[in-house]
Parts: sequence; C-alpha cells; structure tokens
Amino acid sequence: MKKIVLAKGRERSVLKRHPWVFSGAVAEGSADPGEIVEVVSARGDFVGYGAFSPSSQIRLRMVGWNGVPDVGALVAASVARRSSIVGTDAIRLVNAESDGLPGVVADSYAGHMVCQFTSAFGERYRGEIAAALMESVNEAKGVSARDDVEVRAKEGLSVGGFSVLAGEEPPELVEIFEGGVRMLVDVRKGHKTGFYLDQRDARAAVGRIAAGRTVLNCFSFTGGFGLHAAAGGAKSVTQVDISSGALALAAKNWELNGFGEAEFVEADVFKYLRSCRDAGRRFGLIVLDPPKFAESKSQVMRAARGYKDINLLAMKLLEPGGMLATFSCSGAMTPELFERVLAEAALDSGRSLQVVGTTRQAEDHPVSVFFPEGLYLKGAILRAAD
Ligand code: SAH
Repeated sequence: MKKIVLAKGRERSVLKRHPWVFSGAVAEGSADPGEIVEVVSARGDFVGYGAFSPSSQIRLRMVGWNGVPDVGALVAASVARRSSIVGTDAIRLVNAESDGLPGVVADSYAGHMVCQFTSAFGERYRGEIAAALMESVNEAKGVSARDDVEVRAKEGLSVGGFSVLAGEEPPELVEIFEGGVRMLVDVRKGHKTGFYLDQRDARAAVGRIAAGRTVLNCFSFTGGFGLHAAAGGAKSVTQVDISSGALALAAKNWELNGFGEAEFVEADVFKYLRSCRDAGRRFGLIVLDPPKFAESKSQVMRAARGYKDINLLAMKLLEPGGMLATFSCSGAMTPELFERVLAEAALDSGRSLQVVGTTRQAEDHPVSVFFPEGLYLKGAILRAAD
C-alpha cells in the first residue's frame, strides 16, 4: 500500500478523527484517484488509512483508523445501522463522511437505490459499493448513480447523468410511503437523489399539528409537508413552489392519496408572501423549507437576510395561535444563528412567538461527533402566542 506523509503537526486533526486532510497538510507521496493509502505523520508514525484525491483541495479523506478498510464491509455496516427504522420504505442507507464512507450517499426508494459519488474514493469504488448494497439490502431491486452533481468537478470527476450500476432499472416514478402518505419520486431528475429524505421527522411533526388548520406550504417541491398536513387533518392546503415540474408531481402525489381539493401556486415565495400580506390573507400553519441560501461561510450574512425576510413575512401572516414550521438547510448557518434570525424576525413582525419544538435531519442522516460539518438541517416550530 502506498504511503502519504503529512506535514509536521498536521496529524493532529486526523488523530481527532476529522476525516478531511487538505492539500497543504500533505508533505510527500501520491496515489491514483480514490486509492486507499497509509497515512503517516512527519515522524513516520501510523495515523490511519485515507483515500487519495489528487485534484481536490481535500487531498485525503480518511476511511479507517484501525484495520485496512474493507469498502463492502463499511457499506454493509451502514445499511445494518438502519435496521430499526420503520414506517417508511424510503431511507438513506449511506450518509457519506458520517457513515465512514466519504463522498458516498446511497438512498433507497422501495428497494431502488440511488447513489451520489462526490469523492474520488466513491468514484473508484462505485462497483464494489453497488455490489455491497445489492447484497446487504433486503428486497434490493437495483442500484443507480446520479452523476449530475456539480461538486464532482472539484474532485476531478465528470459531471454526467444517470446510469444503472447493478440490478434492474428503476421506473420513471418510484412509489414510496412515509407514514400514512404515499409519494412518487423522480429518481432521475428530482432534487438530491429524488426526494428530501432528511425532512422525514419534520414532515411527521407538521402532520401532528395540522388538524383543522389552513396550511400554506412554501417551497413545497413535490408536496411532502402539505401531504402530511392533509393526512393530519388540515382544513385546506396551499402548495407553493417556483418550479412547475415540482408542482406537477405535487399534484400527482395529491391525487395518489385521494385528498380532494388543494391549491397549487407557481410563484416566487418572496413575492407570494407579500401578495398574501397585501390581500390580508391569514393562515393557521405555514411551512418554510427553502433551498440552501448559503453555499459557504462567506455567504452567511446575505443568507441571514433572506431567512429573516421570509420568516418575518410568514410570522405576520399567522392567525392568532397559528404555527410556523421553519427550516434552514445551509450548513454554514448554525442552529444558534438561525435562532437569532428568528428572534429578529419576530421582533420586527411585532408578533409574540414561542418555540414549541425543534427538528434536525432525520436519523438516517446521522452526524459523526468527529465531523460537526455533517449537521446542516435544522428547524423550529413556533406558535403565535399573541
Ligand atoms: N419541502 C420540500 C423540499 C423543498 S426544496 C420537501 O419536504 O420535500 C426547495 C424547493 O424550493 C424546490 O422545490 C425549489 O423549486 C423551490 N424554490 C427555490 N426558490 C424558490 C422561490 N424563490 N420561490 C418558490 N420556490 C422556490
């Protein structure tokens, strides 16, 4: 096995099990893209095993600290950790760094598995990973890859399309269930690998507080929050998204569940909330689940203004006793900063709000304690107490 020597003192973060070694921390040695290498300190002491990435700023991604890593075994262990998840057939099986498989994501939609490889490591081992998934998943149907993720370029990987790696090709739309709700997932073109599995707990929480309420689901995508609200007894549901494709699938999902009437609005939420304000509309439950406003730390302040804007507007639209379920999936926006933004929005809205619950990414999106960067999704459920 090839050896990579770290620069003096640069083994420290690795010994604390942080999985990333940046290019400046590597003193000597080279390997092929994704190849597993032995990592040693400047003094020559063994530090761990890493996967080499010659063209990335993240030059090494650690894949083991004890024995030589067995990629298939890592995949099987990650799948086994999900065995207690019930009530859905749509689960993230591998959550990248936090599951010990850097740059590897694998989601299962009713046995149709979809991977994203965003590291040279994942790319090199995609065949083994697909085989291990087929073997370790009960009722595995097939494994596909989505190579349309821009960050692949940073690892020197081609940005491409959809391909089947093992087993059968998935249907155009895969039907899944989550609690009492059924949904169709476009695994070829839908966001991420097709669906926002990370919001499962939040969707359930919204379902529990929706009874009898008029619900406004902003940034609805394929309608998940609105569907759970309807299943929870909402009086009415309005789904708002800027994408006509997402709304078309939201409408199909609505029909699939036989929920009757609903309103689907193709609009920019920033403008739509203002139009509701101007029209004097009020809601009993508003969901705000926007896309990432900050890609990096440098964009956090601008992102904070965006979050404040929509939250302030939404707060003003709440009926007395109304609820706001609000989320941020920007990793650069910490939970503390998000809470501050919500407090500022509440102050400017002139409303009195209480936090009655908080949410995080669902348990199949774990965060390694050694890799706090793995936490990106946080949410709060607020009640208008005035
Ligand atoms: N809540 C969804 C996920 C939301 S993803 C779920 O649980 O599945 C973010 C969505 O916001 C995308 O569907 C995107 O089309 C939409 N979007 C992005 N910018 C928007 C804007 N300015 N106004 C309305 N929708 C927007």
